[in-house]
Amino acid sequence: MSSETITPKGKAPINWPGTIVLLGTPLAALILIPLYTYSHDFSVAAWVSFVLLLAMSSLGITAGYHRLWAHRTYEASLPVRIALMIAGTFAIQNSILYWSSGHRVHHRHVDDIERDPYSAKKGFWYSHIGWMLRDYPSGETDYKNVPDLLDDKLVMFQHNYYIPLVLLTNLGIPALVGWAVGDLWGVMLLGGLLRLIASHHVTFFINSLCHMWGKRPYTDENTARDNFWLAIFTWGEGYHNYHHIFQYDYRNGVKWWQYDPTKWLIWSLSTVGLTKNLRRIPSFNIKRAELAMKFKYAEKNLAIFGHNVNEDIAQMKLKIADEYETFTHTLNEWAKLREQELQAKKVAVAERIHQMDIKLKQEFHAVEQNLIEQSQRVELMLRSLRKEAKRI
Ligand SMILES: [Zn+2]
Ligand SMILES: [Zn+2]
Repeated sequence: MSSETITPKGKAPINWPGTIVLLGTPLAALILIPLYTYSHDFSVAAWVSFVLLLAMSSLGITAGYHRLWAHRTYEASLPVRIALMIAGTFAIQNSILYWSSGHRVHHRHVDDIERDPYSAKKGFWYSHIGWMLRDYPSGETDYKNVPDLLDDKLVMFQHNYYIPLVLLTNLGIPALVGWAVGDLWGVMLLGGLLRLIASHHVTFFINSLCHMWGKRPYTDENTARDNFWLAIFTWGEGYHNYHHIFQYDYRNGVKWWQYDPTKWLIWSLSTVGLTKNLRRIPSFNIKRAELAMKFKYAEKNLAIFGHNVNEDIAQMKLKIADEYETFTHTLNEWAKLREQELQAKKVAVAERIHQMDIKLKQEFHAVEQNLIEQSQRVELMLRSLRKEAKRI
């Protein structure tokens, strides 16, 4: 789906391979599936193949293309990498190299209508599918941001033999499954064709709806949202607000209870040694981001009351401002501690480092406790504010 041609300014030319795959497959499904059901019934096995092969191609993208190759959030053994490469190829979303390069640009220039390849600021249609129907406006595919992948033999093998691999997986896997369960055409249509369309749009939702619907508990500096319902359809990628602020975390649903099958898959593989070095953002940083947003929302809530407020609200405003000051103070203290830690490492005196470590651990714990308490106070204040708002 890429093009090497440089195009003049204005509308980029149609990306024919992309357009044929993305518009041709739904068209083929609309014709072939009703035609087939006219004279045949789909077997239960064909429907099961739809579900299982959908899981396979989607996880190839989320655990493989996205969290392994685009963000390097963990390391995987060769058998896992091969399996993810095959599963990702099965999803027909271009090569790992091309996909990851574009995705890194998306994170770097998120929402920038010139540079973000699928900026949600350009609307639902564009960020969902429109961006793939034309070549990149610049006409070039730049791989400067993926030097690590250019050195990866498996990634380059897939890139160089992408078309044969797509044909092999997309015809071979459903045919093999269909033959094994005795319903070749049923599986080709449901596990092959319909699964491919579903798997496409599930991923595309991450670029479109996950930048439009949901909450922003960690940052409001970009359009990315956290949305439980979208997490269900996107194999855990619906916690997109968290993902955009901490893209190097192997989890998107960072809380243990958040629905993120991709995170569970990566973690489960690590328990048997098939994946390792799973990257986690320190909980302190996460809490800091969350708390900063809570303060922001508290301030916004208070602003609703405007100037003609009663004594209670005025008091609350003062209190929030006060709390925020304590919060920033704690943060500065923490930054100082980190600096000391780095300095200590430079001095490299074993004993000093040891003592510093003990001291740091204690102080860090105190700072963290303080943050938690403040966060709870803000929560309480917000609750009473909401009650107050209802009363007025
Ligand atoms: Zn995004
Ligand atoms: Zn990402």
